[in-house]
Amino acid sequence: MEAGIVGLPNVGKSTLFNALTSSVAAQSANYPFCTIEPNEGIVSVPDSRLSRITEFIVPQKIIPASLKLVDIAGIVKGASEGEGLGNKFLSHIRQVDAIMQVVRCFEDPDVTHVSGNVDPIADIDTIETELVLADMQTLENALPKAEKTARSGDKEAKLRVAAIQKCNAHLESEQPLRTLELPEAEAAAISSYGLMTAKPILYVANVDENDLAGEHELVQRVRGHAQKTGAKVACVCAKLEAEIAELDEEDRAEMLSDVGLEEPSLNIIARETYRTLGLQSYFTAGEKEVRAWPVPIGSTAPQAAGVIHSDFERGFIRAEIYNLDDLEQYKTEKEIRAAGKLRVEGKSYIMQDGDICHFLFNV
Ligand code: GDP
Repeated sequence: MEAGIVGLPNVGKSTLFNALTSSVAAQSANYPFCTIEPNEGIVSVPDSRLSRITEFIVPQKIIPASLKLVDIAGIVKGASEGEGLGNKFLSHIRQVDAIMQVVRCFEDPDVTHVSGNVDPIADIDTIETELVLADMQTLENALPKAEKTARSGDKEAKLRVAAIQKCNAHLESEQPLRTLELPEAEAAAISSYGLMTAKPILYVANVDENDLAGEHELVQRVRGHAQKTGAKVACVCAKLEAEIAELDEEDRAEMLSDVGLEEPSLNIIARETYRTLGLQSYFTAGEKEVRAWPVPIGSTAPQAAGVIHSDFERGFIRAEIYNLDDLEQYKTEKEIRAAGKLRVEGKSYIMQDGDICHFLFNV
């Protein structure tokens, strides 16, 4: 699962990307089989439950969940017609699972705004318009083939045609596909198109240093817009966070308390992005390591085991599961078992956020 960071030039994308991906020890260990390109980074997802677990199970290593963030540079007006880095930009967005759009809400006469004044809603519209146009083009290209196959009686193609028509009507009314509800079978029939306005989106309002809570009217407008279009909003002062991320632990705590933050906003953004991707965590906890693993909400136990290793999914027998409250009450796994609180779950179990698991499997 990966998120792509987009935004107009000079809104603070690189500042945020660098702060998010460098504030943690490089977690490339979590991605041993994929190459990390220069415009990609790993963001770790801070989770206070890890430190609660390690009060009772002391491991050699603590590994938080992480996600991949891709810096998708270069959108300008006209991207859908190939302006700027247009086509390359769009093909990158097609590949990500969620979009993080940085919008500028900070005033700074030293930092030029591409269109002359700070107007986050206009910025959002500029990018959304390009994505709407690009999606329309994708559907226009796909329709003749889908219609032809549908005429030969193909059931899935018929669903595809129906879905394309609904999507087109929605896009023509200038609405993103995120706000269109399609029957599951129709949505599945067009899922391979990578339609961009259907992807979940998080607006990151890059706020002024003196408005960290995002109370400024510009930020309120972003919130209002997001609510109408099925998006979420998080606030950050990218410049300040970049400075905070470079401090050692002691200075960082002092700086955070000086500016009135309980934790770096980067942590909140990492968690919001994780949620926007539709992910939740389960844990494995042993003396070697205590680790959070990302799984899509609604995953079954074998699918969750497959996140660790595909062999675990194939050979899945059962899972033994307890939760953090049990650990805090009974202190050790042995006592949890003795109290009959260790649940045995089978193949159809739907994972719950925060489950602490052992998987039993055949190899
Ligand atoms: P990008 O083009 O969107 O990647 O923007 P950059 O991250 O390169 O930032 C553009 C300029 O804005 C740089 O000079 C940054 O130092 C500055 N900048 C970024 N974030 C903030 C912020 O939160 N407040 C202020 N005042 N300046 C910022």
